[in-house]
Amino acid sequence: MSPTDPSSPTDPAPADPAPADLLTVRGLRKSFGSLEVLASIDLTVRRGEVLALIGPSGSGKTTVLRCLNGLEVADGGTVDVDGELTLDFATRPPQRQLAALRDRSAMVFQHYNLFPHKTVLENVIEGPVVVQRRPVAEATAQALALLERVGLTDKKDSYPFQLSGGQQQRVGIVRALALRPQLLLFDEPTSALDPELVGDVLRLIKELALEGWTMVIVTHELEFAREVAHEVAFVDGGTIVERGEPRQLLRDPQHERTQQFLHRLL
Ligand code: ADP
Repeated sequence: MSPTDPSSPTDPAPADPAPADLLTVRGLRKSFGSLEVLASIDLTVRRGEVLALIGPSGSGKTTVLRCLNGLEVADGGTVDVDGELTLDFATRPPQRQLAALRDRSAMVFQHYNLFPHKTVLENVIEGPVVVQRRPVAEATAQALALLERVGLTDKKDSYPFQLSGGQQQRVGIVRALALRPQLLLFDEPTSALDPELVGDVLRLIKELALEGWTMVIVTHELEFAREVAHEVAFVDGGTIVERGEPRQLLRDPQHERTQQFLHRLL
């Protein structure tokens, strides 16, 4: 009998199982001045799964990620993480809730956004030490292990300008992992890279997906989305027009706007 077998008479009552959906977004709205960027976004991401957001430039994909990371504060709608943290943007959520949202998610940016005046190692430990107040020694040990994993140990004392774009982005990913988030958010992680550097970064993201990280990825790499995502959502005009299993949606989109978008890309 396994120690977790609920039929064991000596086991305590089983705790409520964790909800299958790690992230639930309902009716998310965001305007910048008079420009309505997110009209109403609904999405869910199951624990350990990958959602790819595709869609034309300017459709609101980055803004979705920024709202999920607390970099933007939405104007309306709700965001629930793990059934434990629910932010209702009908009124501005308190700072502690926004901080909790930031703590549960970590973002990987298109242009890496590393601190230019800090070394690779300093970039990676900045969040854990300064924001999460973890001991420097522990954060450093974790950072070195992560850098080793992505083959960048020998770059730990380099500055971002001394690295290739692919190396900078791998540091960007390590920096996100070092925060131990529940949710990884990728904003077009390879679109600033030279074509020959794209493969390494996509491989790393795919490895993380296979390890069971829960992710939302904004991407133009349809082949990658097809391979890695559990679900693809097509965003246009600040709403999710269509979502579905990647092979199905990319091969046989139901909505005319999705068809037009994919037709232009393929
Ligand atoms: P996508 O990621 O799909 O290309 P974005 O979310 O980046 O789209 O942008 C959607 C729209 O919102 C664009 O028209 C963009 O110019 C506008 N926008 C994004 N951020 C801001 C901001 N901080 N201030 C004003 N307009 C913004």
